[in-house]
Amino acid sequence: MTHRAVPFFDYRSLFSSHENELLAIVSEVGRRGAFILQNDLAAFEEELSGFLGARWALGVGNATDGLHFAVRAAGVGPGDEVILSSHTMIATAAAIYFAGAVPVPVECGADHLIDPAAVEAAVTARTRAVMPTQLNGRTCDMDALQSIADKHGLLIIEDAAQALGSKFKGRCAGTFGAAGAISFYPAKVLGCLGDGGAVITNDNAMCQRMYQLRDHGRNASGKIVSWGLNSRLDNLQAAILGFQLKKYDRVMARRRCLASLYTERLKDVADIVLPPAPDSDPDRFDIYQNYEIEAERRDDLQRYLKDRGIGTLIQWGGQAVHHLKVLGFAQNLPYTDSLFTRLLMLPINMSLSDDDVHYVCDNIRACCGYPIG
Ligand SMILES: *Cc1c(COP(=O)(O)O)cnc(C)c1O
Repeated sequence: MTHRAVPFFDYRSLFSSHENELLAIVSEVGRRGAFILQNDLAAFEEELSGFLGARWALGVGNATDGLHFAVRAAGVGPGDEVILSSHTMIATAAAIYFAGAVPVPVECGADHLIDPAAVEAAVTARTRAVMPTQLNGRTCDMDALQSIADKHGLLIIEDAAQALGSKFKGRCAGTFGAAGAISFYPAKVLGCLGDGGAVITNDNAMCQRMYQLRDHGRNASGKIVSWGLNSRLDNLQAAILGFQLKKYDRVMARRRCLASLYTERLKDVADIVLPPAPDSDPDRFDIYQNYEIEAERRDDLQRYLKDRGIGTLIQWGGQAVHHLKVLGFAQNLPYTDSLFTRLLMLPINMSLSDDDVHYVCDNIRACCGYPIG
């Protein structure tokens, strides 16, 4: 096996793979002096809502702000509880916290997404909403969550930061509930050259309130009608994202190809649990933001791969939300605790060649004592 370097994610290639086109966009937008709330943003919002099949998409500074605005716009606040998966970024909980409500983390299931039974068990008289994370580019069982929400009169606000284009029963992540947020952080499947995000909604009143929250409480005529903050997607980033969105179908297809290759090469390795393969579930269209496996001897495997030039990552630095005692969490979630000793993300991104994936798989097989063949 010839040694090769397979970084977990190559930030430079996000720029260098399309350097000429990106520089042309910067020049063109720069010469127009079109930086804040300009046509490129409006055009991108239109393209994004069209892509998602949603009524509105609003560009915001990042997905964390988008989620925060969604929670506030939905009228969820002090005295309210919001249920989320403990296997998510702290940003999900922070959005709830900064709206004044209490984040209640619960267990995830075997596919690492929020467990509907755990959601139902956590409902109290104060519960106002569920915030499922469409983790790793896979959409939760939204039928199960919707029926719990209907039964208890709860809102759904989706953390779809990792799931642009992911579908459940033909419908895109981010379009199910009162609102959803998507992230354009550089390492996300649709990444910009800095921070960026969008909030998605089909509800006119939600749209108005989030529109104001992101821009100093101003309405479409520029008149101040409420309290607001400042969190707008930069017009320049929107122009870059508009360019990237045109190629997005190919990006999703490539990631699904890479996931199939991982499945094909690793499915017989008993020490490892793989994510569901593309098309293994007719209700799902997964976009593989991450390729998160479970490995019994996770730390040994990670070290073995690192010694051979392969970058892997443990999501959230290995800390589930309920592990963050410093923030006051004290839930007892044994399934998530045990899962978090096994989770590891393998590289999956647009700079990976098939040979890179073969090299990663050859090494995983060797580490686990399986023939390479
Ligand atoms: C990336 C991410 C966020 C935060 O997105 P930002 O745009 O960086 O604010 C929130 N939730 C999840 C699940 C994420 O992966």
